Amino acid sequence: MEKCSTEKLLKNTKTKMTSARSSLLNIILENSSPETATSLHKKLSKETRIDLATVYRTLKIFNQKGLIRAINLDGEKIYYEKSCEHNPLHAHFYCEKCGDVECLNPFGFDESTSFVKMADKKEINSVELILRGRCEKCS
Ligand SMILES: [Zn+2]
Ligand SMILES: [Zn+2]
Ligand SMILES: [Zn+2]
Repeated sequence: MEKCSTEKLLKNTKTKMTSARSSLLNIILENSSPETATSLHKKLSKETRIDLATVYRTLKIFNQKGLIRAINLDGEKIYYEKSCEHNPLHAHFYCEKCGDVECLNPFGFDESTSFVKMADKKEINSVELILRGRCEKCS
C-alpha cells in the first residue's frame, strides 16, 4: 500500500494547510510507533522554526479531524500516531518500568464485534485500550 499523501489527508479533512502542518503530519505518517509532542517537536525543529505550543495546538486539530490518534498515558504523557488505513485500530502495551509504548496487533473482527456488543447500540467513535505491565527487556 502506498504511503498517504499529507496534502490529500489535509484536503480531505478540510484542514488548513501550512508547511509546518504538512511537515508535522508527514513525520507522523512515517513513524512506525507512537511519539510524544516534545519528541515530534524536536524532529520538526530541524526542518522549520516552530514552538512547542504550536505543535500541541496542531496535534489537537489533527486529532479532532481524525488524522491521528492520541494515546493518553497517566494523563500527562500523550503519544500520537497516524490513524489512516495503514494503521488500523489496535491496543497498546505500556511498560511501567522503561516507559516503552508498543503497538499491538490490530483488532480483528471478533474484537470489533465485542466492542459493538458491549456498547449496546451506542455509537462508538474510538476505542482506547492500554495493557500495562513489563516488556521483554524489563521482565
Ligand atoms: Zn496512510
Ligand atoms: Zn520495559
Ligand atoms: Zn499504536
